[in-house]
Amino acid sequence: MRFAVISDVHANLEALEAVLKDIRKRRVEGILFLGDAVGYGPNPNECLQVLSDNCRILLAGNHDRAAAGLTDIEYFNEYAKKAVLWTRQVLTEKSRRLIENLPVQQKLKKENVLLVHSSPKEPEAWHYLVTLWDAEVNFQYFDERICILGHSHLPFVIERLPSGEMITYNSTAGLGQNERYIINAGSVGQPRDGDPRACYVLFEGGSSEFVRVEYNIKETQLKMRNAGLPLPLIERLSRGT
Ligand code: ZN
Repeated sequence: MRFAVISDVHANLEALEAVLKDIRKRRVEGILFLGDAVGYGPNPNECLQVLSDNCRILLAGNHDRAAAGLTDIEYFNEYAKKAVLWTRQVLTEKSRRLIENLPVQQKLKKENVLLVHSSPKEPEAWHYLVTLWDAEVNFQYFDERICILGHSHLPFVIERLPSGEMITYNSTAGLGQNERYIINAGSVGQPRDGDPRACYVLFEGGSSEFVRVEYNIKETQLKMRNAGLPLPLIERLSRGT
């Protein structure tokens, strides 16, 4: 079974459509979405609609919950907060209802995979899983062989050997049967690893591959400017940071 896993679209319709076009060229069983459909970008309602039309599984992220008024935004930075408040104003009732019904995690039983937006430990506390220490702690909080998540916008594969040793991969990785894995799918709509191209993962039980897709960044930036979204959020798209 081969799946495309996408995360952190952040209302960037141009990036989402470019990624879906790329996925259609490949043989995948389904598309799995790990949350943050909205926040930062200019097309929240459109992205939610396209995602619900195309994905087999959809999760909610902290920005989705915040835009629907379901989580606190006190800890959001200044620009994220402004973008969430803008999103709240434009979000339709239909979009709000869609978000309200999304879970923050889901299991693929047959594939022995946990899907979660932030981290297996307290998924609704929105912790970031970045360091090997974070990984070590979080491996204790799920039973599946593999956890695939998003949230930090930084793509990686962390492999935990039966000995406890951990190895990090930033590109294609073969997945062993005796090892366990935490995979970050990166971000479709706001990459932060220095590569501005949209990022997603092609996942099979035996391998994980990061795919990068170019999209019309200028078009997204123009829409953000017209919407009056904060300048630093517009500029970071060109840098992928
Ligand atoms: Zn995000």
